[in-house]
Amino acid sequence: EEIRELLLSRIREVADYPRPGVRFKDITPLLADSKAFSLVTETMAAICRRRRATKVAGLEARGFILAAPVAVRAQVGFIPVRKAGKLPGATLSQSYELEYGSAEIELHAEDLTPEDRVLVIDDVLATGGTAEASLHLIRRTGAQVAGVTMLMELGFLAGRERLREALGPAPLDVLLTL
Ligand code: 5GP
Repeated sequence: EEIRELLLSRIREVADYPRPGVRFKDITPLLADSKAFSLVTETMAAICRRRRATKVAGLEARGFILAAPVAVRAQVGFIPVRKAGKLPGATLSQSYELEYGSAEIELHAEDLTPEDRVLVIDDVLATGGTAEASLHLIRRTGAQVAGVTMLMELGFLAGRERLREALGPAPLDVLLTL
Protein backbone atom coordinates (compact mmCIF):
# COMPACT_ATOMS: atom_id res chain seq x y z
CA GLU A 1 0.00 0.00 0.00
CA GLU A 2 1.04 3.65 0.51
CA ILE A 3 3.44 2.97 3.43
CA ARG A 4 5.16 0.17 1.52
CA GLU A 5 5.67 2.43 -1.50
CA LEU A 6 7.12 5.24 0.63
CA LEU A 7 9.55 2.93 2.45
CA LEU A 8 10.55 1.11 -0.76
CA SER A 9 11.28 4.41 -2.46
CA ARG A 10 13.68 5.35 0.36
CA ILE A 11 15.77 2.15 0.30
CA ARG A 12 18.73 2.20 -2.08
CA GLU A 13 20.09 -1.01 -3.58
CA VAL A 14 23.88 -1.04 -3.88
CA ALA A 15 25.27 -3.70 -6.21
CA ASP A 16 28.28 -5.80 -5.16
CA TYR A 17 28.51 -4.38 -1.60
CA PRO A 18 30.13 -5.48 0.67
CA ARG A 19 31.05 -8.38 -1.63
CA PRO A 20 30.54 -9.22 -5.32
CA GLY A 21 27.06 -10.66 -5.93
CA VAL A 22 25.39 -9.00 -2.92
CA ARG A 23 22.70 -6.37 -3.50
CA PHE A 24 23.00 -4.37 -0.27
CA LYS A 25 19.88 -2.58 1.00
CA ASP A 26 21.05 0.87 2.09
CA ILE A 27 18.65 2.58 4.53
CA THR A 28 20.45 5.95 4.71
CA PRO A 29 17.98 7.63 2.27
CA LEU A 30 15.15 6.54 4.58
CA LEU A 31 16.95 7.96 7.64
CA ALA A 32 17.53 11.22 5.78
CA ASP A 33 13.78 11.59 5.15
CA SER A 34 12.07 12.80 8.31
CA LYS A 35 8.62 11.55 7.24
CA ALA A 36 9.83 8.03 6.39
CA PHE A 37 12.06 7.78 9.48
CA SER A 38 9.30 8.83 11.86
CA LEU A 39 6.79 6.54 10.12
CA VAL A 40 9.14 3.61 10.79
CA THR A 41 9.85 4.48 14.43
CA GLU A 42 6.17 5.27 15.15
CA THR A 43 5.07 1.94 13.63
CA MET A 44 7.71 0.06 15.62
CA ALA A 45 6.76 1.88 18.83
CA ALA A 46 3.12 0.78 18.31
CA ILE A 47 4.35 -2.83 17.93
CA CYS A 48 6.46 -2.41 21.08
CA ARG A 49 3.35 -1.35 23.05
CA ARG A 50 1.21 -4.12 21.51
CA ARG A 51 3.80 -6.75 22.51
CA ARG A 52 3.94 -5.28 26.02
CA ALA A 53 7.72 -4.97 25.85
CA THR A 54 9.51 -3.37 28.80
CA LYS A 55 12.84 -2.95 26.92
CA VAL A 56 13.97 -2.75 23.33
CA ALA A 57 17.28 -4.28 22.28
CA GLY A 58 18.99 -2.74 19.22
CA LEU A 59 21.47 -4.82 17.19
CA GLU A 60 24.70 -3.01 16.28
CA ALA A 61 24.90 -0.82 14.32
CA ARG A 62 21.84 0.13 12.27
CA GLY A 63 19.55 -1.47 14.84
CA PHE A 64 20.71 1.22 17.31
CA ILE A 65 19.50 3.99 14.99
CA LEU A 66 15.99 2.51 14.86
CA ALA A 67 15.65 1.05 18.36
CA ALA A 68 16.71 4.14 20.34
CA PRO A 69 13.90 6.43 19.06
CA VAL A 70 11.44 3.52 19.39
CA ALA A 71 12.43 3.11 23.06
CA VAL A 72 11.89 6.81 23.75
CA ARG A 73 8.52 6.90 21.94
CA ALA A 74 7.29 3.71 23.63
CA GLN A 75 8.68 4.87 26.98
CA VAL A 76 10.78 1.78 27.60
CA GLY A 77 14.53 1.32 28.15
CA PHE A 78 17.13 0.65 25.48
CA ILE A 79 19.66 -2.23 25.49
CA PRO A 80 22.58 -2.19 23.03
CA VAL A 81 23.55 -5.63 21.68
CA ARG A 82 27.12 -5.06 20.53
CA LYS A 83 29.85 -6.79 18.59
CA ALA A 84 32.36 -8.51 20.88
CA GLY A 85 34.82 -6.31 22.75
CA LYS A 86 32.88 -3.03 22.72
CA LEU A 87 31.03 -3.08 26.06
CA PRO A 88 33.00 -2.03 29.16
CA GLY A 89 31.12 -3.94 31.86
CA ALA A 90 30.47 -7.61 32.63
CA THR A 91 29.02 -9.14 29.47
CA LEU A 92 27.32 -12.29 28.27
CA SER A 93 28.59 -13.41 24.84
CA GLN A 94 27.08 -15.53 22.12
CA SER A 95 28.84 -16.66 18.98
CA TYR A 96 27.06 -17.77 15.83
CA GLU A 97 27.85 -19.07 12.36
CA LEU A 98 28.06 -16.80 9.33
CA GLU A 99 28.21 -17.75 5.67
CA TYR A 100 32.00 -17.51 6.01
CA GLY A 101 33.33 -17.95 9.57
CA SER A 102 31.64 -16.84 12.76
CA ALA A 103 30.74 -13.73 14.74
CA GLU A 104 30.14 -12.87 18.39
CA ILE A 105 27.72 -10.44 20.05
CA GLU A 106 27.44 -9.29 23.67
CA LEU A 107 25.22 -7.45 26.12
CA HIS A 108 25.36 -6.15 29.67
CA ALA A 109 23.28 -8.76 31.50
CA GLU A 110 22.81 -6.61 34.60
CA ASP A 111 20.63 -4.15 32.65
CA LEU A 112 17.93 -6.84 32.28
CA THR A 113 15.86 -8.58 34.95
CA PRO A 114 13.65 -11.71 34.78
CA GLU A 115 10.64 -9.35 34.79
CA ASP A 116 11.74 -7.74 31.52
CA ARG A 117 10.08 -8.50 28.18
CA VAL A 118 12.53 -7.58 25.45
CA LEU A 119 11.70 -6.60 21.86
CA VAL A 120 14.66 -7.07 19.46
CA ILE A 121 14.95 -4.47 16.69
CA ASP A 122 17.15 -4.36 13.60
CA ASP A 123 17.04 -2.99 10.06
CA VAL A 124 17.39 -6.19 8.03
CA LEU A 125 16.56 -9.85 8.62
CA ALA A 126 18.94 -11.62 6.23
CA THR A 127 20.00 -15.19 7.22
CA GLY A 128 18.64 -14.64 10.74
CA GLY A 129 21.89 -15.59 12.47
CA THR A 130 22.36 -12.29 14.30
CA ALA A 131 18.77 -12.10 15.53
CA GLU A 132 18.83 -15.76 16.58
CA ALA A 133 21.99 -15.20 18.66
CA SER A 134 20.43 -12.11 20.27
CA LEU A 135 17.41 -14.16 21.39
CA HIS A 136 19.71 -16.73 23.04
CA LEU A 137 21.58 -13.91 24.80
CA ILE A 138 18.39 -12.33 26.12
CA ARG A 139 17.04 -15.64 27.43
CA ARG A 140 20.38 -16.39 29.13
CA THR A 141 19.90 -13.23 31.26
CA GLY A 142 16.60 -14.70 32.52
CA ALA A 143 14.55 -12.05 30.69
CA GLN A 144 11.71 -12.94 28.33
CA VAL A 145 11.52 -12.30 24.59
CA ALA A 146 8.57 -10.07 23.61
CA GLY A 147 9.30 -10.44 19.89
CA VAL A 148 11.51 -9.44 16.99
CA THR A 149 10.74 -6.42 14.80
CA MET A 150 12.62 -5.74 11.56
CA LEU A 151 12.35 -2.93 9.07
CA MET A 152 13.01 -5.37 6.22
CA GLU A 153 12.99 -9.12 5.64
CA LEU A 154 14.95 -10.59 2.72
CA GLY A 155 12.52 -13.44 2.05
CA PHE A 156 14.83 -15.42 -0.26
CA LEU A 157 17.37 -15.93 2.58
CA ALA A 158 14.82 -17.77 4.77
CA GLY A 159 15.85 -16.00 7.99
CA ARG A 160 12.31 -16.49 9.26
CA GLU A 161 12.81 -20.27 9.21
CA ARG A 162 16.19 -20.00 10.96
CA LEU A 163 14.58 -17.86 13.69
CA ARG A 164 11.52 -20.05 14.22
CA GLU A 165 12.87 -22.26 17.00
CA ALA A 166 14.53 -19.44 18.96
CA LEU A 167 11.37 -17.32 18.68
CA GLY A 168 9.00 -20.00 19.96
CA PRO A 169 5.60 -18.33 20.38
CA ALA A 170 7.10 -14.79 20.30
CA PRO A 171 6.05 -12.85 17.16
CA LEU A 172 8.23 -11.69 14.26
CA ASP A 173 6.95 -8.41 12.80
CA VAL A 174 8.38 -6.92 9.61
CA LEU A 175 7.46 -3.62 7.99
CA LEU A 176 8.62 -4.61 4.52
CA THR A 177 9.30 -7.99 2.82
CA LEU A 178 11.61 -8.06 -0.19
P1 5GP B 1 21.86 -11.95 9.29
O1 5GP B 1 22.51 -12.31 10.59
O2 5GP B 1 20.34 -11.96 9.38
O3 5GP B 1 22.37 -12.73 8.12
O4 5GP B 1 22.32 -10.50 8.93
C1 5GP B 1 21.68 -9.46 9.52
C2 5GP B 1 22.64 -8.35 9.87
O5 5GP B 1 23.41 -7.95 8.73
C3 5GP B 1 21.84 -7.17 10.32
O6 5GP B 1 22.44 -6.59 11.46
C4 5GP B 1 21.84 -6.25 9.12
O7 5GP B 1 21.99 -4.91 9.52
C5 5GP B 1 22.99 -6.69 8.27
N1 5GP B 1 22.64 -6.83 6.85
C6 5GP B 1 22.70 -7.95 6.07
N2 5GP B 1 22.34 -7.66 4.81
C7 5GP B 1 22.03 -6.36 4.78
C8 5GP B 1 21.56 -5.47 3.74
O8 5GP B 1 21.37 -5.81 2.56
N3 5GP B 1 21.33 -4.19 4.13
C9 5GP B 1 21.53 -3.76 5.39
N4 5GP B 1 21.24 -2.47 5.68
N5 5GP B 1 21.97 -4.57 6.38
C10 5GP B 1 22.21 -5.85 6.07
